[in-house]
Amino acid sequence: MYISEEEILDHLNTKPFRLIAEAADELGVEAYVIGGYVRDLFLNRHSKDIDIVAVGSGIELAKKVAHKFGRKVSLSVFKNFGTAQVKCDDLELEFVGARKESYSHDSRKPVVENGSLEDDQNRRDFTINAMALCLNADRYGELVDPFGGIDDLEDLTIRTPLDPDITFSDDPLRMMRAIRFATQLGFFIEPDTFEAIERNKARIEIISRERIVDELNKIILSPKPSYGFELLDQCGLLDYIFPELTALKGVETKEGIGHKDNFAHTLMVLDRLSRTTDKLWLRWSALFHDIAKPATKRFDNRLGWTFHNHNFIGEKMIPGIFRKMKLPMNEKMKYVQKMVSLHMRPIALSDNEVTDSAIRRLLFDAGDDIDDLMLLCEADITSKNPDKVRRFLENFREVRAKLAEIEEKDRVRNFQPPISGEEIMQLFGLTPSRPVGVLKEAIKNAILDGVIPNEYEPAKAFLLEKAAEMGITPIA
Ligand code: ATP
Repeated sequence: MYISEEEILDHLNTKPFRLIAEAADELGVEAYVIGGYVRDLFLNRHSKDIDIVAVGSGIELAKKVAHKFGRKVSLSVFKNFGTAQVKCDDLELEFVGARKESYSHDSRKPVVENGSLEDDQNRRDFTINAMALCLNADRYGELVDPFGGIDDLEDLTIRTPLDPDITFSDDPLRMMRAIRFATQLGFFIEPDTFEAIERNKARIEIISRERIVDELNKIILSPKPSYGFELLDQCGLLDYIFPELTALKGVETKEGIGHKDNFAHTLMVLDRLSRTTDKLWLRWSALFHDIAKPATKRFDNRLGWTFHNHNFIGEKMIPGIFRKMKLPMNEKMKYVQKMVSLHMRPIALSDNEVTDSAIRRLLFDAGDDIDDLMLLCEADITSKNPDKVRRFLENFREVRAKLAEIEEKDRVRNFQPPISGEEIMQLFGLTPSRPVGVLKEAIKNAILDGVIPNEYEPAKAFLLEKAAEMGITPIA
């Protein structure tokens, strides 16, 4: 075990638990700390959310506890749910009466009635989430673990307390939670439990996309997210929730030439990236970076397998997938699109000679996200050929050095051309029209190509020259 019984008692011997114990004894109800907090305590992980179950009224217990704490706490009561929350500093104590649940087939919302501690533990999703520690004085710190949660913690096992088919069919979100906990904690899913997920996978359809995304986000933010996606794939859930990802699976061979398995590659990129960043949307970008490979795959007699423009097609596919999955259709999506559309650029750059102009263009297009893009691109190098990897990484070092040098010199990251469209219109007496766009673009390109510096006077001189070529003259 990760933590001894004495340490557990020490842990419970703190003010919040002492006050709950006093309040429960005064009210004559049994009170337990239960669920994730107990699991995390045994795993020596510290959680700030504490769930308390009272065998009786959770709300009455919460009120008494809040009173005992005195002025520094806030109490919120949710009568309709029979729950109450006490917040004290950074602790959140959730109180609820022990309950019994029964489910109907078409909803994950159960009918709830008052119950015993045992009823309450029966409705929990996994053995490791069903353990309770008693807080009443005469049984202080006594562990109530009817399903062997401690053994499962020791064996790193996720298992449902009751028949897994019923547990998952009652609330199919639990299938996602099983895989999420396995990924977060590095646990195995016990075979009967896993097989029940395979059998019940179609039930995921009654779960809202938002809840599924919540679980996916937690999987993605885990230390080794590929493990979660492999489990999702093996049980068949991934096909329901993110079919574009399973479409990356498989290797085709023609004329003796194969291509890599893009599913395995994508997961490898995600894991590699996860070692260097905990940014959620950058990790999502790894999942999407090759999403258009199946749609763009061709066999060329000269070149072998090609995936031309998969970055641009991928960028275009993203809004449809985000909408369907109920991922946020806002600047986070735009960021993922940008990462996907640009993910080939640093590689293409380092393949050729690294010119100043190409670097300026990359800086201009990536803006403040350039560092994230470089992390994604480095993670994308998964070749098994060590010479190739060494060559790429060396070229990347060169690209990074050049990026820093050009950024210092030209400051083109997020740059706005020094002459606005407004000024062009005034200068030449133009209304909004194509020539204004052409002139503006010409100034931008001249700066990015290093023809002129990123300054007002040279830009104006260049503008006058370019306009003259087009037969446009300034108004007096
Ligand atoms: P985390 O905070 O990492 O999500 P947690 O276990 O605290 O972990 P919560 O979602 O806060 O997760 O749930 C608290 C407890 O409530 C769980 O430990 C479990 O006992 C129970 N629980 C939560 N969701 C379900 C569910 N869908 N089915 C059954 N029991 C659940």
